[in-house]
Amino acid sequence: MIVMKFGGTSVGTADAFAQVAEIVKHQAAQQAATGKPGVVVVTSAMSGVTNMLIEAAQKAAGGDESFHQVQEDSLLLKHQVVAGRLIEDGSERAALTRSFEERLTEFGRLCGSIAVLGELTPRGLDVVSGLGERMAAPLLAAVLRASGLRAEAIDATELIVTDALFGGAAPIDELTEARCRERLLPMLQSGIVPVVTGFIGATESGVPTTLGRGGSDYSAAIVGAALDVDEIQIWTDVNGVMTADPRIVPNARSLHQLSYEEVAELAYYGAKVLHPKTVTPAIEKKIPVRVLNTFEPAHPGTLIVEKAESDGRGTVKAITAIRSMNLITVAGRGMMGVPGIAARTFGAVANVGANVLMISQSSSEQSICFVVPESSADEVIAALRGEFQRELERHYIDEIHGMSHINIVAVVGSGMRGTPGLAANVFTAVARSGINVIAIAQGSSEANISLVVIDADVTASLRAIHDIFELHVPTEQRSPAHTAGATA
Ligand code: ADP
Ligand code: ASP
Ligand code: MG
Repeated sequence: MIVMKFGGTSVGTADAFAQVAEIVKHQAAQQAATGKPGVVVVTSAMSGVTNMLIEAAQKAAGGDESFHQVQEDSLLLKHQVVAGRLIEDGSERAALTRSFEERLTEFGRLCGSIAVLGELTPRGLDVVSGLGERMAAPLLAAVLRASGLRAEAIDATELIVTDALFGGAAPIDELTEARCRERLLPMLQSGIVPVVTGFIGATESGVPTTLGRGGSDYSAAIVGAALDVDEIQIWTDVNGVMTADPRIVPNARSLHQLSYEEVAELAYYGAKVLHPKTVTPAIEKKIPVRVLNTFEPAHPGTLIVEKAESDGRGTVKAITAIRSMNLITVAGRGMMGVPGIAARTFGAVANVGANVLMISQSSSEQSICFVVPESSADEVIAALRGEFQRELERHYIDEIHGMSHINIVAVVGSGMRGTPGLAANVFTAVARSGINVIAIAQGSSEANISLVVIDADVTASLRAIHDIFELHVPTEQRSPAHTAGATA
């Protein structure tokens, strides 16, 4: 039994939908041949749809009462075009049109209320932004039926029970597992392919939530773990996880295997190919995750397992960057004598719920620097100024400030553990390109070295590090000097 998740571009056009149907049919036949039949499909919204929904909700909150109508028309057309191309049965088409119209009426009503209130709450935003998946799932189910499979759309609000942290809800495992098994297993047993909406869930009392942007990957893993499937497949628009984002580093290569740890680091530090939480449900049940290309289905993609194969030369596996960060500094000569500064600093940061992505404290103890998302910087600085008011007055602490336009570049690979000279290689690469490294840190997992650079230096840093480790070359052909970590 497997779960297959299709991302926005995989359901972006009628041709893509047709391609997905072929892939699902093929996998369903393969599963049947293994004697353990069963395929669960998880779908994202059609590409661009979630952004369109959010844009309309934001405009409504700003007082624009009519913009959503423009979006309604183009959203209806976008979905109808696919139905028109791929579904011949008239009653299927009529039922689909009704379901699109229902969702879009809901969308119109929601935008109307948001405009009246003049406010968009995280709870309201979750209802609006989840509508795309709720249109895509019935459409994909109908396309699968038209291609001869028995398929049925299911709303994940019936399956994934979450907390009420709108915009990034977490599943409640036991409840979710029970619901998934109860609802999906009988369908699978009677030969039906359930087509589940990605991205969304609901609280125990039924309030809709989302798992965060890009969260359909996570949905697939949650459902996969609940059903204890043999494999979780993430079908996207690239040949698996690559040595870097191919849009930024054009000679990036596909990686054959990665460990859960490596992929978690990469995703956490911005590799958009997988939602950062995707591997979490898979780890516990040791379910392999495979990342595959909808548009090149014969490519083996990337297999993500507990312990990835290593030939000793693939020390550094991949590099990634996370953007729109802020580097916060707490500094002062008097800090040395004041006990517990670090604990109080991070206590204050935790109180405002900000996520610290990297910390670097200098050994002189005269400053603490750390990186948080730009969106939480103002709140963090205000909290720190409040916490250290007395120390600021007495000049034990001289400054608390933030620096915008910050990015973290992360170099990732489990084999980096205990390999000397790697950091030197990283810095040689960036220094040669004239890049100023603002701060550095070794991740606690030792599977990661991170550096902080400004916006203008991100692309050049990624390319320089990719080059120095010869990541564009097949692993077995790389020169040992670079891969073992000796200074170049
Ligand atoms: P989907 O809609 O299928 O979920 P996403 O757009 O979320 O797809 O993720 C796929 C994209 O992730 C790719 O098109 C690629 O540009 C980007 N990406 C970033 N880092 C990597 C990486 N290391 N390997 C592969 N793709 C990456
Ligand atoms: N449609 C959602 C988004 O755009 C979820 C996803 O695509 O994974 O964020
Ligand atoms: Mg995605």
